[in-house]
Amino acid sequence: MTSTPSVPTITLNNGATIPQLGFGVFQIPPAETKDATLTALEVGYRHIDTAEMYGNEEGVGQAVRESGIPRDQIFVTSKLNNGFHAPEDALAAFDTTLATLDIDYLDLFLIHWPLPAVGDYVDTWKAMEQMYAGGKVRSIGVSNFQQHHLNRLRAETTVPPAVNQIEVHPYLTQEPLRAYGAEHGIATEAWSPIAQGGVLGDPVIERIARRVERTPAQVVLRWHAQRGDIVFPKSVTRSRVEENFALFDFELTDEDVTDISTLNKDERTGPNPDEFNYIPS
Ligand code: NDP
Repeated sequence: MTSTPSVPTITLNNGATIPQLGFGVFQIPPAETKDATLTALEVGYRHIDTAEMYGNEEGVGQAVRESGIPRDQIFVTSKLNNGFHAPEDALAAFDTTLATLDIDYLDLFLIHWPLPAVGDYVDTWKAMEQMYAGGKVRSIGVSNFQQHHLNRLRAETTVPPAVNQIEVHPYLTQEPLRAYGAEHGIATEAWSPIAQGGVLGDPVIERIARRVERTPAQVVLRWHAQRGDIVFPKSVTRSRVEENFALFDFELTDEDVTDISTLNKDERTGPNPDEFNYIPS
C-alpha cells in the first residue's frame, strides 16, 4: 500500500503553523463555492483562502462546517475589503466576515490591498492589531504590500505581519520582496501561482514536466514549494484539484528551480499595488 505524503507546514512569526498548500476560491461563483470547497477538503486540502471581495465566504463556511472535519484542522484565511480601511470600519468588517463564514475564529486575516492613495494603511494595521489582541483571529497579515509599505508598518506599529500575500509565478518571481520577507520573518504567500494558467505552455516548464513525468502545473507548484512559499491554486475541476494536491512525492533539482526562476520577466497578471486604489461600490 502506498501512502500520500502529507502537506508540509510553515511556522509563522508568532508560532502558528499554516499548511504550505491550500485551496484558493477567487472567481468561484458564490453558488458553487460550497461544493468546490467540499471537494478540496475531500481531496485532502486543509487550508482555504477566501476574501470578502470574492463574495463567497458563506459557501466556504458552509463547507468547513459540513465537511465534518474538526475546525482546528482547517486553516481559514479571509481579507479586509478595500472599502473598509477606516479603523472603525475595519473592526466592523472583521465581525461581518466571521458572521458570514459563520465560524468562531479566523486563522488569518489580511489587509487585501494597501490602497496608498485612499487612506492610511498604517491606521488600518493598528485596527488589525486590535482584532489580533481580541483573540478571534490567530494571525494577521497583509496582501499586495511592497517593501516601502512594510517598512512603514515596521517603523510605526507593534505586531509584524505574519504573511505578505503577493502575486508570484515564474514570470514574476518577486526575488527582492521575498528576500525582504525572509529577512524580517514575514512568510510569502504566492497568489495566482500558475498565473491563471498563463505559464503552463512555457517550453522550459514543459521540458521539465516531461522529464519528471508530471504536469506543467505540478512542476510550477512544486517550484513554489521548494522556494518555501505558501500556495493555494484555484480550480473548479476535480481532476485539477487532485493534480494540484499531488506535489509532495517528487522533487525538482536545484537546476530545475533555477531554470524556472530565470523565466522571470516582472510580468504581472494583476494590478500594480502602487497604482491600485480601487474601492468597490
Ligand atoms: P491560479 O494561478 O490558481 O489559476 C487558476 C486558473 O488555472 C483557473 O482558470 C483554473 O481553471 C486553472 N487551473 C487550475 N489548476 C490547473 C491545472 N492543474 N492545469 C491547468 N489549469 C489549471 O489563479 P488565481 O488567480 O485563482 O490564484 C489562486 C488564489 O490566489 C485565488 O483563488 C485567491 O485565493 C488568491 N488570490 C489573491 C489575490 C490577492 O490580491 N490577494 C489576487 C488573486 C488571487 P478551472 O478552475 O476552470 O479548473
